[in-house]
Amino acid sequence: MSTTTATPNAQEFAGRTALVTGGASGIGLALARRLSGAGAPVVVADYNEESARAAVAELESAGGRAAAVAMDVTDPASVEAGVRFAVDTFGALHLAVNNAGIGGPSSPTGEYAVEDWDRVVATNLSGVFYSMRYELPAIIAAGGGAIVNMSSILGTNGFAGSPAYVAAKHGVVGLTKTAALEYAAQNVRINAVGPGFIDTPLLRDTEGPARDHLISLHPAGRLGTAEEVAELAAFLLSDRASFIHGSYHLVDGGYSAS
Ligand code: NDP
Repeated sequence: MSTTTATPNAQEFAGRTALVTGGASGIGLALARRLSGAGAPVVVADYNEESARAAVAELESAGGRAAAVAMDVTDPASVEAGVRFAVDTFGALHLAVNNAGIGGPSSPTGEYAVEDWDRVVATNLSGVFYSMRYELPAIIAAGGGAIVNMSSILGTNGFAGSPAYVAAKHGVVGLTKTAALEYAAQNVRINAVGPGFIDTPLLRDTEGPARDHLISLHPAGRLGTAEEVAELAAFLLSDRASFIHGSYHLVDGGYSAS
């Protein structure tokens, strides 16, 4: 009797080019490392070009193929150019992780600065749309592939003081489901990941009691790691997830179970 194995092929992404937005830091960097380590040529696309170059140098010194591109996901022309760069550099695009995001300030909805709302939604929601808008034709041209959009536990739960972030992350889930319906027949799988609070530079200003409060929301008793999120996203990008389309997967230390 044949059985499937849970052990991933060490080179399961060989020959599949991956684009990771926000790939120079935190979860995006962990994903770039994870995909590169499994054979994917990786394009690290980030607002911060210097950090993207540093990430690429690290991937190359570990034996991977990688390239850096400056990309602002709030600017459709910048996203289009970044996707074109990936295709021009490695010949095709097969995988994308739309991960770039910001937290935004904390304040109740009735006091939330309109410009902060616009900035958070432009980055965390419109940025995912712009990314898929230009990635999808490239992935279809390559014969198919997979996309993971980075939502959050706040793609399903509310969180007082973060109206723009919560609304954008809920939006990412709906956008993911819709695009998945549209492109499943063209061999493109599109899924969303919902991390709990993860110990990355995004939480750099959250210290002391505020950090303790975040930890207390997770029955696991700690924040997650970028690598734990990257592992789920890598699974969803792989052929091991071949029947998973349009779903939203949590990696949240039990946050949502209570
Ligand atoms: P980081 O701040 O460590 O990484 C985010 C990266 O995105 C940074 O390199 C940042 O650049 C880049 N970026 C920001 N704005 C843009 C932009 N307009 N265009 C291109 N790149 C941009 O954060 P995380 O790794 O923690 O977050 C990654 C994703 O995971 C985000 O979408 C976040 O919302 C989500 N997430 C994070 C959680 C957490 O607790 N950390 C929990 C749930 C979801 P720069 O540093 O220059 O700003």
